[in-house]
Amino acid sequence: MSFYTKVLIIGTGLAGYTAAIYAARSGLSPIVVSGLEVGGQLMNTSDVENWPGEPGGIIGPELMLRMDNHTKEFVPEIINDYIVSVDFNVTPFLVSSEKNKYQAESIIIATGSTARYLNLPAENNLRGKRLSACATCDGFFYKGQDVAVIGGGNTAVGEALYLSNIARRIFLIHRRDELRAEKILQDRLMAKVKEGKVDILWNTEVKAYIEYQGKFKGLTLINKIDGFLYDLPIGGCFMAIGHTPNTAFLQNKLKLKEGYIVVNGKSQTLETMTSTSGVFAAGDVADSRYRQAITSAGSGCMAALDAEKWLQLNNR
Ligand SMILES: Cc1cc2nc3c(=O)[nH]c(=O)nc-3n(C[C@H](O)[C@H](O)[C@H](O)COP(=O)(O)OP(=O)(O)OC[C@H]3O[C@@H](n4cnc5c(N)ncnc54)[C@H](O)[C@@H]3O)c2cc1C
Repeated sequence: MSFYTKVLIIGTGLAGYTAAIYAARSGLSPIVVSGLEVGGQLMNTSDVENWPGEPGGIIGPELMLRMDNHTKEFVPEIINDYIVSVDFNVTPFLVSSEKNKYQAESIIIATGSTARYLNLPAENNLRGKRLSACATCDGFFYKGQDVAVIGGGNTAVGEALYLSNIARRIFLIHRRDELRAEKILQDRLMAKVKEGKVDILWNTEVKAYIEYQGKFKGLTLINKIDGFLYDLPIGGCFMAIGHTPNTAFLQNKLKLKEGYIVVNGKSQTLETMTSTSGVFAAGDVADSRYRQAITSAGSGCMAALDAEKWLQLNNR
């Protein structure tokens, strides 16, 4: 099928839904495409305790169902489709899936990112159940417990430092014998090692998750130097081996930095505009730093306001 719209919104995470509500309420009648994961990343977690206005917290899928219902008050139909290619050299822009073609005067890309995991057995069942990819989101649940962080870059060290103020003891599991994190972060980490808050397990890899009756209980680790295999019982485990922004369909179409979409930023009026005029980006797909529900929703709002302004300025 073929569709035409003033604003095409790609993605139904926090950023996409928020952009849709704002765009629809300003009379732009956006078309919203959901992708394969309706509701986005928060569908994979249980308690969300930092979403303002929800004392006591809210379950991730419940928040996203409410977002979906709220959006449908203004955008009755969300199209279940997965975008595979874009052509920004034509006016209107042309966006395609396997089955549909969308002509759009402006576009808001809100396709999020995907946390990398280890691809070990049982991982999918344990995700969101003591196996997390976000210490800022889930660290609070591990007060006074022992936890592990997997990785050796800035994210891993940052997550370990964050958790060191909450958890009892942190095991940083790194497969090499030196960290890739910036020196200043390493210095802070070493101070925590001296305090006895953090243990770094060098040259160590995770061989398996230990689970009992579907619950995460710890990790089976191997020391790569001597082959020593042992179990580490812990309360939770945080993956910090990177995120993959969902931009495969945008390669060579937009300016990207390490896969993330580059937007104008604060220096320019249309902060969320990408390297192509009329194409905007919001949420984790354009944010390698904060990656939070509230920041994604906030930038979704900004992208919708920017798109509206751009359409006005360009008489579309
Ligand atoms: C386990 C976990 C727990 C978390 N807990 C919290 C928390 O407690 N608090 C907090 O603030 N943050 C939390 N986060 C982070 C939060 O989930 C993200 O910051 C937020 O979901 C980002 O929203 P987004 O809209 O940018 O993208 P996403 O939520 O990633 O949504 C992306 C959307 O784009 C769609 N899409 C992708 N590719 C395509 C395509 N090619 N075509 C069409 N559609 C596409 C997907 O289907 C999806 O609908 C957590 C994240 C994880 C992984």
